[in-house]
Amino acid sequence: MRKNYLLTPGPTPLPPEVCQALGKPIIHHRTPQFQAILKEATEGLKYIFQTQGDVFILTSSGTGAMEAAVVNLLSAQDTAITVQGGKFGERWTELCAAYGIHTEVINVEWGKAVDPGEIEKRLKANPNIKAVFTTLCETSTGVVSDIEAIGEVVNKYKAVLVVDAISGLGAIDLKTDAWCVDVCVSGSQKGFMLPPGLAFISVSKKAWEAIAVSKSPRYYFDLKAAKKAIQSVDTPFTPAISLIIALVEVLKMMKQDSLENIFNRHRVMASATRAAMKALGLELFAPAAASDVVTAVKAPAGIDGEKIVKTMRDVYGVTIAGGQAELKGKVFRFAHMGFIEEFDILAGIVCLERVLKKLGYSFELGTGVRAAEEVFLNNTPRL
Ligand SMILES: *Cc1c(COP(=O)(O)O)cnc(C)c1O
Repeated sequence: MRKNYLLTPGPTPLPPEVCQALGKPIIHHRTPQFQAILKEATEGLKYIFQTQGDVFILTSSGTGAMEAAVVNLLSAQDTAITVQGGKFGERWTELCAAYGIHTEVINVEWGKAVDPGEIEKRLKANPNIKAVFTTLCETSTGVVSDIEAIGEVVNKYKAVLVVDAISGLGAIDLKTDAWCVDVCVSGSQKGFMLPPGLAFISVSKKAWEAIAVSKSPRYYFDLKAAKKAIQSVDTPFTPAISLIIALVEVLKMMKQDSLENIFNRHRVMASATRAAMKALGLELFAPAAASDVVTAVKAPAGIDGEKIVKTMRDVYGVTIAGGQAELKGKVFRFAHMGFIEEFDILAGIVCLERVLKKLGYSFELGTGVRAAEEVFLNNTPRL
């Protein structure tokens, strides 16, 4: 028997209340009982999205909502900007390609954040650009984008701003309305502390105008159908009933906690993690634009990052994430998002230290833990 610690950027651990809600008997979805749940879930999501606009719950992983954004907003031969600074930015480009949409790719060096000025330059040069696809937290590198500044830019043009906030929403700030985000997509298995299976998508007034003229083929992810259904508190197809019941539980907990507390907790966990890595003599992969969602750390010279991840997981039961694509073996990633708390972070650092020692990395045992502890001590309320 062994206790498992999940410190990955999705899925994240589940609160006991969620596990309990997931075990409830199934109910039928076209009933007043489920309608009340769907209504509460939708309202609760608007609080997290910080929007007065529409938010829809889709039955898919997060990528389903990304696809919904592309097919509902654009038509073949349209042009869109995609910001590519990691694996998830690339997904926007690939999705556009799948539907015959031309992309002006802004390639950003992995580990850096996009310059909003570069987006403005492209929008100015090509007035036909219909959408700008960005990522709140590029989970593959740990970089956070300045969505507020990007929103200010895009708002001046005809193009709609689409943000992949699959990792990040409900963990760090994203003001959908105030930052002029037209479509924000997220998923259940990261900041929302649920199993995978739900995707969320917000739609602004400007986005509805784009949807009205878009001709891309779509059926399951047709947002017009979702909008029509929700007017009578319904969904076009069978929703993931159990997950939505659990979502209501989570949203209640998050509201009680308040966005401010949630963001603050993530900020403290992230800075403790970063402090620990620095104290251990390890280098952050994205020091200038590090998110409070996930921290990417360079593996020390001569030590394979994959080996660190594997040993932590298979020998000690602590699961962190490795590097993706070109970063495979070169970085490891610590998530501090969702139902993760200070003592989980400390457990993760203790385990990392032990594995680094076993793999021959030279440092003084406890250095990372001490640095993290100092951050926590200075940021927790006095007794
Ligand atoms: C996890 C993640 C996704 C992918 O979501 P799925 O639920 O696996 O479809 C997309 N974008 C970002 C930024 C993510 O972190």
